[in-house]
Amino acid sequence: MSSPCSILECGTTDDRHFEMDDYAGTLARWCPGCGDHAILTAVHRLLATEQLKPENTVFVSGIGCSSRFPHYVETYGFHGIHGRALPIATGVKLSRPELDVFVTMGDGDCCSIGAGHWIHAIRYNIDMTVLLLDNNIYGLTKKQTSPTTPQGLITNTQTKGSFLPPLDPLQTTLGVTNASFVAQTADWMPSHLAATLQAAKEHKGFSFVRILQRCPVFTPDVFTQAIKDPNVTDILTHDDGIQDASTERIYKSHLFHDPSNIDEARRLAGGDRTRVGLFFRNESFPRYEELRQVPKRTPEEKIAFINAELDRHAV
Ligand code: SF4
Repeated sequence: MSSPCSILECGTTDDRHFEMDDYAGTLARWCPGCGDHAILTAVHRLLATEQLKPENTVFVSGIGCSSRFPHYVETYGFHGIHGRALPIATGVKLSRPELDVFVTMGDGDCCSIGAGHWIHAIRYNIDMTVLLLDNNIYGLTKKQTSPTTPQGLITNTQTKGSFLPPLDPLQTTLGVTNASFVAQTADWMPSHLAATLQAAKEHKGFSFVRILQRCPVFTPDVFTQAIKDPNVTDILTHDDGIQDASTERIYKSHLFHDPSNIDEARRLAGGDRTRVGLFFRNESFPRYEELRQVPKRTPEEKIAFINAELDRHAV
């Protein structure tokens, strides 16, 4: 970086150049081999590629292994409460629309306790980049069944094997009115992961990226086949999709898919195959922050407004 001062204190200069290391926060405390490490590296790379100003960037998370993310990125951050990352991020973006807002959630956090917020955040289509780090288990609370846990997997809460077929986060997201960007990638596909994050960041609206994430401690086998055998993974290709020639050279099974076709996107999101790429994108869908213009108020005006609202509801 061009200046020796802390990056969060340097907001007045315009000639700064940020390297990946400039976005590194505290030392990540995930287990060795955890897929979160690769995702963190890809995010640092994205921030440097985009030259996002740390003081104008916010990472919001809930609770879980992946929700430690804001500690590891040298921007502003909010390590929230379980399942509530999206309402917090919504408030941040509505109050400060000029900020770049990222959300990181795990499958338990997003798809279970946070599921109501998830569905409405998709419909609101507020401009933010939302990463679902899906390891198919509650890792932080030591191997409890999550909504995406494969049926039959033995966990500490369902010791004879998880009872139900897993929820599919892609199909769920694609089923919600106003979903505008839905993609899938994997932590072990660094080039594809980087290209997907780039596309998600560029999208104007709620960019939902499910990242298949290894948890070598509690779900060491769920992605083994996909990691070892490129033939079980389909790459979605299209001129308007994720552009990643190097992954397409390694993974030979390509599916030509027009990401404007939501019916086909829903069909492709189901099934037993691992599919990565851009399932759906439509930037013309309405965004809540455009429809609901929040008036600009000074701090004093905000306090006066809140007091007036409280008085209005006094009994
Ligand atoms: Fe990663 Fe699993 Fe360890 Fe959590 S328990 S840090 S998800 S490897």
